[in-house]
Amino acid sequence: MRIGIDLGGTKIEAVALDRTGQEVARLRIPTPKDDYWATIRAITDLVKQLEEEAGEAGSIGIGTPGAISPATGLIKNSNSVCLNGQPLDRDLEHALGRPVRLENDANCFALSEATDGAAAGGSVVFGVILGTGVGGAIVIDGKLVSGCNAIAGEWGHNPLPAGPGEQERRGQACYCGQHGCIETFLSGPGLERDYAATTGNKRSASEIAEQAQEGDHPAELVLTRYEDRLARSLASIINILDPDVIVLGGGVSKIDRLYTNVPQIWTPYIFSDVVATQLVKAQHGDSSGVRGAAWLWPPD
Ligand SMILES: [Zn+2]
Repeated sequence: MRIGIDLGGTKIEAVALDRTGQEVARLRIPTPKDDYWATIRAITDLVKQLEEEAGEAGSIGIGTPGAISPATGLIKNSNSVCLNGQPLDRDLEHALGRPVRLENDANCFALSEATDGAAAGGSVVFGVILGTGVGGAIVIDGKLVSGCNAIAGEWGHNPLPAGPGEQERRGQACYCGQHGCIETFLSGPGLERDYAATTGNKRSASEIAEQAQEGDHPAELVLTRYEDRLARSLASIINILDPDVIVLGGGVSKIDRLYTNVPQIWTPYIFSDVVATQLVKAQHGDSSGVRGAAWLWPPD
């Protein structure tokens, strides 16, 4: 049995998968607030409970924002700041009495979809999260590529590739210290900010998509601009990685028209006569994080 744990800022979700990938148990608890050792205890209790429910012990994989710094062996880049600077994987190994594999949550998402999701069978897979932030991850022949800095696939903090928009020249400030990062345009809040700047009204990403479908002109304008930015940004990934499949997850990925429109727009930005890369929607939706964490111990 494989146990996958998605350690987020507000909740900890855990799933137990049998060897075929069938879910045998699932639990969810709130994340202890700003308390590292309470988080360790919460995960230990969750594993105990899950194993009681499933009736057997399992391997442990953890997905969480941030990464283990190859330089220090400590967590970096996590928005759950109490984890930063801590040896989370080793403390969990000690508490659970077995080896623990820990990866960035976008990496777990891509691994899930490449293993038994929408990108299964793809040799080179690029997984994209279009959510509160913009993350990315690379899976090649079923294996995660983490990189020597543990940042492989983190395209969200590259600058948006040049396009027709005059206002893109400097771009919005990003929390990472740069301006005009892809994330500031392509995250859910980025899309919503563009709509608000264009119309003076606040709408969620899904409301913008609904309004565009109903023929609302400003919503259509904003979404068309979003699609062009996404196409340009993914084209630069395709030129470097040349993936078979790009799989999208996160809130904005639920907008269906992206999958037909973006591949029609991206061709001129790609250095190829024909583009065979497929753009697909995540199959496991919000469960990709926990499932991918479980698959950090690969199928036999
Ligand atoms: Zn940034």
